[in-house]
Amino acid sequence: MKATKLILWILFVSITLHAQKKKTTATVTTPQGVNYLFNDSHFHLTNYIQEGITAQRFLEIMGDKVGRSTLFGIPLQQQWSYQNSGNYAPTYYLQSDAPLYYYSFTDAYIAMQYMALTKEQQARFDPMITGFNPADMYAAKHIERVLKTFPGVFSGIGEFSIHKEFVSAKVAGEVASLTNPALDTLLDFAGKVGLAVIFHNDMDMPMAKDKTEPVYLDQMKALLRRHPGTTIIWAHVGLGRIVHPVGYGSSTTGERTSTHVDIADEILSDPTLSHVYFDISWDEVAKYIVATPNTIERTAALFNKYPDRILFGTDVVAPPDQKFYTAVYDMYTPLWNALTKETSEKIRIGNYNKLFDNARKKVRAWEKLNVK
Ligand SMILES: [Zn+2]
Repeated sequence: MKATKLILWILFVSITLHAQKKKTTATVTTPQGVNYLFNDSHFHLTNYIQEGITAQRFLEIMGDKVGRSTLFGIPLQQQWSYQNSGNYAPTYYLQSDAPLYYYSFTDAYIAMQYMALTKEQQARFDPMITGFNPADMYAAKHIERVLKTFPGVFSGIGEFSIHKEFVSAKVAGEVASLTNPALDTLLDFAGKVGLAVIFHNDMDMPMAKDKTEPVYLDQMKALLRRHPGTTIIWAHVGLGRIVHPVGYGSSTTGERTSTHVDIADEILSDPTLSHVYFDISWDEVAKYIVATPNTIERTAALFNKYPDRILFGTDVVAPPDQKFYTAVYDMYTPLWNALTKETSEKIRIGNYNKLFDNARKKVRAWEKLNVK
């Protein structure tokens, strides 16, 4: 009798545990009834030489795994300079000393890709404007012109970059900065229209030594506070390939008191920054977050505390197939398992829907009033 009871009890516990496990990464049913894993808040259809895949091909790659996605290119063209590399044609910014320059036609390419889709297919995309120079006081004028040329298409601006390791220093012309009024002009305009903003800005300078605060943190917070009416997604939580999480390895230097999680917590808890969100896109970011049980635990605790302020994204550029495309999502499995079901759903699906549905509505309303 005792043995039977024991077996029954073990059976009961394992069923409950299994149900628990299944619950945390449950896919979310969307209106179309498909159980998608995630929406992608950060996706590049084309690369640094403006080549990539079509939106139609991307839909095939999304398949029944990805519900909705942002759609943008890369606003910078890597110049192929014959003097510099002869017949060798660079396709990435680390493959040539030749400069990068702003490439505005990317917006027309993205708009035409979107307009070639059916209404039903278009509903899964949020195209973004990127083809402007953020150091140009006329940048907002470019965005307005694109909206008036392609009404009914765009939901936001970005990803655009100010401080980006290896890239910013290669851009031809005036170097963009967080204190340049041109940036305020374009963020003001984005707020007025309702465009969601995806903003790449490294929080720190990789090689800068003997500093207590990340180099760009104060300037960035001051900029964000100047635009409370603009929805801003800070890409990659301000991290990069060699822009490590703050406090990374500080145990050796012992200088720093706060870590990246502390700084993110400070920003997310600050009422003057309630219009700011973070995306956790890019496999370089995933590497930091799932590095150790401690980083997973600390990140999960932060995200469970602010479930409405974090968005998942891949930051993948023109993927060849679905396996390659969803690899970043799979890298985050330890994080998905460490989050509550609600937080996981919001980061993977809900927050995207909230931000981009809101942006779509506002931008269409602005177009109704401003596009003849
Ligand atoms: Zn990106």
